[in-house]
Amino acid sequence: MATHTGTLKYEAVQNYINGRFQDEALEALEVHSPLDGTLLTTVPLSTEKTLDQAVQAAKNALPQWSAATVKERVQIFYTYRNLLLENLDRLSELICAENGKTFSEARAELEKSVELTEFACSMPQMVGEEVLEVSRGVECRIERRPVGVVASITPFNFPSMVPHWSIPNALVLGNTMIVKPSEKVPLSLVEAAKLLQKAGLPDGVFNIVNGDKTIVEAICDHPDIGAISFVGSTAVAKTVYRRGTSNLKRVLAMGGAKNHLIVLPDAHVAMTATNVIASVTGCAGQRCMAAAAMIAVGNTEEIIDRICEEARKMVPGKDIGAVISKAALQRIENYITQAEQQGAKIRVDGRGVKIPGRENGYYVGATVIDQVTPDMAIAREEVFGPVLAILRSESLKEAIGIENANPYGNAAAVFTQNGGAAREVINQASAGMIGVNVGVPVPREPFSFGGWNESKFGALDITGKSSIEFWTQLKKVTTKWNAEAGINWMS
Ligand code: NAD
Repeated sequence: MATHTGTLKYEAVQNYINGRFQDEALEALEVHSPLDGTLLTTVPLSTEKTLDQAVQAAKNALPQWSAATVKERVQIFYTYRNLLLENLDRLSELICAENGKTFSEARAELEKSVELTEFACSMPQMVGEEVLEVSRGVECRIERRPVGVVASITPFNFPSMVPHWSIPNALVLGNTMIVKPSEKVPLSLVEAAKLLQKAGLPDGVFNIVNGDKTIVEAICDHPDIGAISFVGSTAVAKTVYRRGTSNLKRVLAMGGAKNHLIVLPDAHVAMTATNVIASVTGCAGQRCMAAAAMIAVGNTEEIIDRICEEARKMVPGKDIGAVISKAALQRIENYITQAEQQGAKIRVDGRGVKIPGRENGYYVGATVIDQVTPDMAIAREEVFGPVLAILRSESLKEAIGIENANPYGNAAAVFTQNGGAAREVINQASAGMIGVNVGVPVPREPFSFGGWNESKFGALDITGKSSIEFWTQLKKVTTKWNAEAGINWMS
């Protein structure tokens, strides 16, 4: 097992295969809490051999699980949903410990996992089959079948919600599965496995293989895995998409983001300021839907002043959680310093935060940077911290041009009281999810989640009805039971 430098707060994480947590002699990484640097646990760096065992378990479980009806499969997820609710506080604390969120953010994340599970429970109402008599006595019907053994690879920023984008839907639709969680936040999924087992999920249907790049590549290469959902940074999303599809799998790979907010002079001052700051600082800015760049059109000084006022009210460690690691903290602070050196104006500075008693935690305060120009790194690159870059533009057209020029396309939002201007942004912004006076325009169930451009690779969205298409394949069955002898080419 792993060598580590102190007492573990939680049991060492093990892989979960065929309904059992496996004790293997694997190299392991330490996992520290971003809140205060405490050693939480260790996570195994699994090898291809462990992945293969998990795939075999999923393969063995597939015939029986896929033969059950969708109505039977959802029964387990009704129970699982109730178990999530019963354990909400305990699981929220776990998310805080491993990810660094505030308690209310962690709880909101789990409530979203519950909502995603409820969506999967409504699957019997959504996947009814289509039947048509296509010529006399000849009937054509569509039967929706699982892809088979599938995999999901997840990031650090939502240890529970992002895995739940895939797990309930993929399983309820009859697939069996391997999940590779982020090695930075492996604990939440251990609890998910225990609760799924308690809910009655048969062994082998759901498996966890921990690890890093080695396991991600092995998933992309494994001949018995039919589909992969990936969520993470754009660089890795591209690699997984290319490698998985070149091995003839279906892949949906969600990437990074640089979400733009366009603020017009007629926007409601207080509502805009609170929405913008909530979007920038929520989950310490580590949301793929977080506002990162704001384009202020014309005279919006009053709104910008109010945004700065709201930012100053946010207390790190209380209103803003920790960022994931020391490296993330340094990266974010470096972006701020570089922007300052390039001539941007730091209106609210979140660098150098130290919280008494939590000196080893990783905190950045809310930061507002004005006079940012499109050529600066802070305007173009994903910072993934509680930092707002404000760019100025003369017109809505120019603002939309700036938004369109960014390579990502997860979300965009407009703040205005003018319906025509809002419609212009809805039509012209190059992003998959648009907010009108909404800073975090996450489409809740049953609507699907997915960006455009470099924020997503693959044709479908990851949640909602779109996920039904991703996790199933269609069987088209043509039948004739009458004894008519006459046959033409259509029958
Ligand atoms: P990441 O890309 O570093 O890691 C994601 C997963 O890929 C992890 O399981 C990790 O172990 C694995 N991985 C890391 N490096 C790898 C490599 N070189 N080869 C193969 N696998 C590798 O992402 P992260 O830092 O965990 O998460 C933050 C990123 O995720 C941000 O860019 C954020 O915008 C993005 N994100 C996107 C969405 C979306 O829906 N578009 C949602 C959440 C997060």
